[in-house]
Amino acid sequence: MARYHASVCRLCRREGMKLFLKGDRCFKEKCAIEKRNTPPGQHGRRRGKIQGYGLQLREKQKVKRIYGVLETQFRNYFARADRAKGVTGENLLCMLEKRLDNVIFRLGFASSRPQARQWVSHGHVLVNGHRVDVANYQVKVGDEIGVAAHTAKNPFLQASVESVKGRGVPEWLELDSENLKGRVVREPQRGDVTYPIEEQLIVELYSK
Ligand code: SF4
Repeated sequence: MARYHASVCRLCRREGMKLFLKGDRCFKEKCAIEKRNTPPGQHGRRRGKIQGYGLQLREKQKVKRIYGVLETQFRNYFARADRAKGVTGENLLCMLEKRLDNVIFRLGFASSRPQARQWVSHGHVLVNGHRVDVANYQVKVGDEIGVAAHTAKNPFLQASVESVKGRGVPEWLELDSENLKGRVVREPQRGDVTYPIEEQLIVELYSK
């Protein structure tokens, strides 16, 4: 039993759900939850069906954890998504996708979003040739994302870019892996977010 707990990543174990925090690994059998085919946590096998408010709350927690966003910031995203044209839930996900730390992760310059956030906050990331150290910076169509010259040789970054070669990057981004650069070619759309997220539950939660 103890080995079972240790094999599931800490936050997924704590939240009792898949949070997709480890890049490719989360989609493969390497994920301990996939191997066991059961919810994580000490009482994973006994967890009953969650409904209504609980379900909505869990969906929000899941999305916050995936993108590494705190409650206040998440509420702000929601408020902006609600004011914007279009479908609120989709707007919300697209805003989260456009965070600079997420873009760094999606381009494969980091193996996880926490690592991507570190690259950004430590000043390793350039947007249109200028250093940007704000992880929640919203990228725009046409932005060119790169890494500082001294970072390009970092073995962690090299390994990460290598691993992304087979996986590819979302269609709204373009990767120039030789020069460690990426470009935003269009706005992200709902279909570009491949995680099993039911954003409507979050909209229902905030609409109460
Ligand atoms: Fe670890 Fe990803 Fe599986 Fe969560 S979903 S347990 S982060 S591999």
